[in-house]
Amino acid sequence: MIHKPKKNCKVCDAVLIGRADKKFCSDYCRAVFHQSNKESISPLVQEISKTLLKNRSILRALNPTGKTVLSKSQLHQKGYNFMYHTHSIQTKAGNLYHFCFEEGFMITEQDKLVLVRQEQK
Ligand SMILES: [Zn+2]
Repeated sequence: MIHKPKKNCKVCDAVLIGRADKKFCSDYCRAVFHQSNKESISPLVQEISKTLLKNRSILRALNPTGKTVLSKSQLHQKGYNFMYHTHSIQTKAGNLYHFCFEEGFMITEQDKLVLVRQEQK
């Protein structure tokens, strides 16, 4: 006796009976599946996500020790996009940090930046 692997509808998880290449139990589930795929991440969101991840890796590469001082133009040269960051933190001392995920920096006087890294919890 041959055991065929049981297949389930991709949407409602109902057991599928019939053709081996079936993915949905009904036309309704097929429609729901294609509709929700269409509503997935828009190109703008994808673009910004890419920029944030690129910013993060630039900061990470320039900051191997966890604290590095460099100039703003050095970040520009690497292709850093100053328009996008994930969050900002203002310390009690009044210093403002911008972060791309766990990698961040504070802009000091003139063109200087202090790169920092947020502690992982
Ligand atoms: Zn279904």
